Amino acid sequence: MSDSGTLTTTGLVALTDVNKHFGDLHVLKDINLSIDQGEVVVVIGPSGSGKSTLCRAINRLEPIDSGSIMLDGQPLPSEGKALAKLRADVGMVFQSFNLFAHKTILQNVTLGPTKVRRQGKSEAEQKARALLDRVGVGAQADKYPAQLSGGQQQRVAIARALAMDPKVMLFDEPTSALDPEMIKEVLDVMVDLAGQSMTMVVVTHEMGFARRAANRVVFMADGQIVEEAEPEKFFTDPQTKRAQDFLSKIL
Ligand code: ADP
Ligand code: MG
Repeated sequence: MSDSGTLTTTGLVALTDVNKHFGDLHVLKDINLSIDQGEVVVVIGPSGSGKSTLCRAINRLEPIDSGSIMLDGQPLPSEGKALAKLRADVGMVFQSFNLFAHKTILQNVTLGPTKVRRQGKSEAEQKARALLDRVGVGAQADKYPAQLSGGQQQRVAIARALAMDPKVMLFDEPTSALDPEMIKEVLDVMVDLAGQSMTMVVVTHEMGFARRAANRVVFMADGQIVEEAEPEKFFTDPQTKRAQDFLSKIL
């Protein structure tokens, strides 16, 4: 972690009064959210409630209209090398695995560290192989993405983000494009990561994951954070009507 002596906002990631519009559509409404180092926050809510936009705002794939987002005490940079570094510091795993189809699994993982982190090739490869082993796909290192199952590709995507030594990992519905039998192998990797004190923001409706790994559930609806609680409390005793209605549909 950086040595931020003038830190005014607590939390490794701190969103203060964040607003975002797409034209007339107000998609993030006065979002206040602070995430501590090592904390695992699950974000759930109906489709269209702003969950993906929230994630994309944290690594500045979407600029915000007002408010502030701080990472490790610093405002998010908006351009240039600082922005590339931010994207490395904030690892992101999407629903669609987004691997480079014409690069091998190993090359997918070493690309960022060699280009953005300026690591040497052999150091990057050594580290990539260790990460691929850690997520259970070490034997696939020399294959191409299309030769792997969806669950394997998603685990490669996680290894690729981890190779950058991120300060925080964002997961946007990482298992929703997977066949049921592959969901567990991806969630197991995420639970393992949570157990190793990675700071994580996870958009998912996988209650099992939330219960096993999350410190906090944030329920979003209509661009707002409507309710926040520990997972057990949220799932068994939701306080707002909107959360109750939502849970009655998905549980
Ligand atoms: P969620 O991930 O919770 O389903 P999103 O953050 O993807 O929600 O979307 C929130 C709202 O913003 C939705 O109404 C969606 O249609 C809209 N939206 C998302 N991205 C864009 C965009 N690039 N341009 C216009 N509208 C968008
Ligand atoms: Mg989404």
